[in-house]
Amino acid sequence: MQPKHLTRYLADLGWRDPLNLPSDRAVPPTTPDSGDFPESPDLDGLSRALQGCARCRLSEKRKKVVFGEGAPDARLMFIGEGPGAEEDRTGRPFVGQAGQLLDRMVVAVGLDRGQTYIANVVKCRPPGNRDPKDDEIAACSAFLDRQIELIQPDVILALGRFAANRLTGTDKPLGALRGRWSRYKGVPLLATYHPAYLLRTPADKRKVWDDLKLVLAKLAERA
Ligand code: URA
Repeated sequence: MQPKHLTRYLADLGWRDPLNLPSDRAVPPTTPDSGDFPESPDLDGLSRALQGCARCRLSEKRKKVVFGEGAPDARLMFIGEGPGAEEDRTGRPFVGQAGQLLDRMVVAVGLDRGQTYIANVVKCRPPGNRDPKDDEIAACSAFLDRQIELIQPDVILALGRFAANRLTGTDKPLGALRGRWSRYKGVPLLATYHPAYLLRTPADKRKVWDDLKLVLAKLAERA
C-alpha cells in the first residue's frame, strides 16, 4: 500500500499521522487542543487568529482567508457556503455575481449590506468551487460558532444546503428545511436558497422572497 493510501486508511480509523505524510484526506482536529482555540474577545482578534490557519487542506490553495464582514452588532447574519474565486482574490465574502444578488436580497429586507454581517461555513475557497467536505466544515466550525457568539444577531439566514445542514445538524435537502424556523445557539435560524442557485434557477426567487418576508417579520418581532 502506498504511504498516502495507508495514511488515509489509518486516518479513517481515527489515527493521527505523526510523520505528516501527504494525504488528500488528512483529518484535521475539529477543535484545536492547544492555546489557539478561537476564544478571542472580539471579531478582529478572531480574524487575526484565523490568518495563516492550516487546520485543513483548503489552506494549501487559498489566496486569502475570507473571514466575513459587516456590522459587529448586526441584527441579521447571513451564512453562506464558502468563498469563490473573487472572494478568494479579495478576501471579502459574497463579492462575485452571487454577492450582487445577495445585496439585492439585503435591500429587500430594508437594510444595506453594512448593517448586516456576512460569513461562510468555510473561510477558504474549495478549489474549483467544489463542495466543502465534512472535515473542512468541521475544521472551521469553532470559528463560525465564535463569530455567532460575538455578533449575537437577532436572526440567522442560512444560504444554501451546506450552511443549512451545518446549522441544523441534519443532512436534509434544502427544500425540506427552508421556510421553517429553528434555533442555533439560541438565535432564530431560517434557511433559504443560495443566491448562486437562484442565478441558475430564477423561478425559485419567489420562494426566497417568501423567506425574506419571514425574516422581516422576525426582526420586527425582536426589535
Ligand atoms: N458563495 C458563498 O457561499 N460565499 C461567498 O462568500 C461567495 C459565494
